[in-house]
Formats: sequence, C-alpha cells, structure tokens
Amino acid sequence: MGIDYIYPEFEVIRNESRCVTCQVCQRQCANEVHRYDPDLGRMLSDETKCVGCHRCVSLCPTHALKIVKNDCAFRENANWQTGAIKEIYKQASSGGVLLSSMGSPAPLSVYWDKLLLNASQVTNPSIDPLREPMETRVYLGKKPGLVDRDDKGNLTYALEPQLELSMPVMFSAMSYGSISYNAHKSLAMAAQKLGIFYNTGEGGLHEDFYCYGGNTIVQVASGRFGVYKDYLDAGAAVEIKMGQGAKPGIGGHLPGAKIVGDVSRTRMIPEGSDAISPAPHHDIYSIEDLRQLVYSLKEATEYKKPVIVKVAAVHNIAAIASGVARSGADIIAIDGFRGGTGAAPTRIRDNVGIPIELALAAVDQRLREEGIRSQVSLVVGGSIRSASDVVKAVALGADACYIATGALLALGCHLCRTCHTGRCNWGIATQRPDLVKRLNPEVGCQRLVNLLTAWNHEIKELMGGMGINSIEALRGNRLMLRGVGLTETELRILGVAHAGE
Ligand code: SF4
Ligand code: SF4
Repeated sequence: MGIDYIYPEFEVIRNESRCVTCQVCQRQCANEVHRYDPDLGRMLSDETKCVGCHRCVSLCPTHALKIVKNDCAFRENANWQTGAIKEIYKQASSGGVLLSSMGSPAPLSVYWDKLLLNASQVTNPSIDPLREPMETRVYLGKKPGLVDRDDKGNLTYALEPQLELSMPVMFSAMSYGSISYNAHKSLAMAAQKLGIFYNTGEGGLHEDFYCYGGNTIVQVASGRFGVYKDYLDAGAAVEIKMGQGAKPGIGGHLPGAKIVGDVSRTRMIPEGSDAISPAPHHDIYSIEDLRQLVYSLKEATEYKKPVIVKVAAVHNIAAIASGVARSGADIIAIDGFRGGTGAAPTRIRDNVGIPIELALAAVDQRLREEGIRSQVSLVVGGSIRSASDVVKAVALGADACYIATGALLALGCHLCRTCHTGRCNWGIATQRPDLVKRLNPEVGCQRLVNLLTAWNHEIKELMGGMGINSIEALRGNRLMLRGVGLTETELRILGVAHAGE
C-alpha cells in the first residue's frame, strides 16, 4: 500500500574492517537479511527482514556483526507507546489478527522476583548438600489422605499410579509440528537421561519416539490429533489439555504449510490441511463430562497411568481446580499467563489469564480447605526461569514445575518471537529440513541435561540453606517465603508474610 509505515525493528551493524565476505551470515539467515553484492564486493543488509534471532552474530567467524535495537523513535507519549503505534500500522496494512510467539512480554508483576526465601541461622542448622542426603525425587499422582500400614509395615491399600521424577521439573507440552523433529528428540533423550518426563503436546507421537515412552506424557487435546490406542499405551501418563496459559479460551491452529511429511503422518491428518484444535472439547461442557473423559482414558490404559488435566490460569482457577480434582484427575497442571506459545493472537496472549504464582497459591489453599489436596498433584508452568523459581513454586504448594521456554533457550532459542513464521534459524520451531538439521539432538540433549543438572544442584543448595532436606518437606511450606513490595491483597492471596515480619 505504498508507504511502509513501520521502521525496521533492528539495525544490522557490520564492521567492514572485520568482514571477510565469507557469506556465512547469508547462508545462515532464513529471513534473507544478508546478501553479497558482487559489484560492490561487500555484504549488504535488508534490515526490514531481521527478527533479531542473532544466528548470524553467533556464527560470524570474525565477530563483525552486531544487531541492535533501532532507536529511530516514533513520537510516542505515555498513552501511545511505540508498540501500540506499530500494531495499528500493521493491522491497517493487513486487516488481520496480530499473531505472536513465545510468552507475554507485558511488564506485569513477576511475583517470583518479589518473593524471597528463608535461610537457617543459629537454631535450625542448615544442611550441606555435598555431605548430607538431600531428596529431590518427587512422585506425582493421587496420595491417600492417611498412611495406613499392616503389622509388617506394608501399605494396606494399592497406591494409585504415580510418575516418579528425579527432580521437580519436567518439559512442558510442545507438539511435533510446532517444534522440529530434532528439538523433540533432544527433549525425549534428555527426559530419559534425567529421569523426568517430556510432553508430546497435541501433535501425536512420532514413531521414532515410542522408545522414550517411559519418559513421555502423551497429550489429548481438543483436536485429538494422533490419538489412538498405541499412542495412549506408549506414554507413562496421559494429559488432557483443556487450556494453555498463552491463549486461554481459544484453540490452536497449525497452518497447512507446516503439515508436511512426518508431521501429517504423526497427526494423522492429510498433508497441507490446517490442524485446527477447537476452543472447547466438543464432548466436555461440565465437570461430569470431564470426568467421563478422564475415566475413558483410565479405562483405555487399564488404570495403569495417571491422568493429568491441564488448565490455563484464569480468574476463578481455584474453583476450576477443585472441580478438576473431583473429576478423578490424578494431576492438575496449571499454565500461567506468561507461558510460551508457537503462535497465539497477540491480544489474547497479552491480556487474558493471570500470573501462575497467584493461581498456584489460590489453588493450593482451596484444595487444602476442602480437604482434597492429597487427591491430586499440582504441576505449574508459565515462565519458570530458574532453580529459585522452582523452589519458590514448591514452597507455594506445587509438586513440580513444567518448563518449556527455558528448555528451548537451552537448545539455542534466542527469543526472537517469530516461531509462527516457521523460519527458526536455530532449527527449533521449524520443519524446513535445512534448518532442522542445524540442531544436533545429541548436543541438544546434553545441553538440557546440563541445565537441569545445574538446577538440581541449586535446588539442593537452596533447600539446604533453609535446613530442609526434601522436596516433600518444602511443599506448601510458605513460612519459607517472604514478600517484598507487595500489597496486602497480594500477600493474602499468596499466603505469605511481608519481609521483616
Ligand atoms: S558472517 Fe561475518 S565475516 Fe562473514 S560475511 Fe557475514 S558479517 Fe562478513
Ligand atoms: S524457537 Fe526459534 S523462532 Fe522461536 S523464538 Fe526461539 S529462536 Fe525465535
């Protein structure tokens, strides 16, 4: 439409004295930013195409490149900020819904950063995790209200199926199709090595990954892609996806262009057809309906696997979780509004849902008050960034955490937020064979193992400092938390005292 109203978001700065015109940047950029001009004998840049993924910067052999934010300023004010102005221009040009990837960048409170952990001093000695046993293993699933043993010390009842995790962290749902074969393989291999679980997401399970079934959570979403008996049998647990933190209340859409080859076979839909998951499950309109699906899946898997129900953190999450617990689910996964996504309408991603910290505290409290907390395990996700976030989540009441964005960062993601274009230069959110092969699954697996091994050490150190030697003893122990800079209402919902109290 004539004038392009949007200035490039990034500026490519090339140090000509260092550039040897090797053209690595040209070959590495799927967005076609760099181009060698034989007449000029030098590299040129089309900055309108740059997404700031830093692939070229990382691989330039002479460190000749720098990508910086373009500081060409709009005439913004407190009301009309640059982002809002650009979005108006985009929609005036396209007439379409704005799409985004990864989690919400909105500058809303990150409560993890306003919660501080305790440490033992003088009376309750701290524990040195290098010298004393420290238990980070957790079991997810229904627990009995009371432990009852016979004369020989054996439990007097059969325990419901449990997931055993070596540490309270798992890889969250990311479908094959939204991420690449090699990204999925990295997650599957790492989950197996670490003794934790990864999650198929709603895209089915590639036949090559059935061998990782013992460390796989298979998801059943509203589109039911790739769901059949062998798929359910293959996983260690089944997750019903009712909602996702990045886009609560809506379904999913993987464009037909990405439904190719193995992706179409794994999803069991024709090549080139859009994979549209409806917003609701068309057979679920009540807790009773949900219960039917929970028990159908238990029946189909001979009551040998826990069933997880995943919901997005929304306004009345405590009541919703109470209903889900009564539906027979063994585990409730709650996804907060900062959670990542391969593609979501920007307005939904940035404006719908609530922070996971408040949702978790409200749910744990409600289930305790109703005396049903032990009937379900709670898994939380939605921007868990570090070992300290995990420890704070456990102290607020979680049994374990899901990570996804953190795992993708470990694989090389640079948070350029353009997964929905399918041109991920790091070989993660793409199905283009030339890009997929950039991610070596062996290397990816090792980086994930390194990350979580480091986190596990840090979790032990943090617990040891508090004089606590097991996740079990930390769970829901809000006395280990203090708030800073929070209102009375926020402190009440979180169930923590202010620092200094
Ligand atoms: S990768 Fe670096 S040295 Fe090679 S052409 Fe690009 S900017 Fe020049
Ligand atoms: S997965 Fe790839 S496309 Fe998505 S944000 Fe990360 S680097 Fe960018």
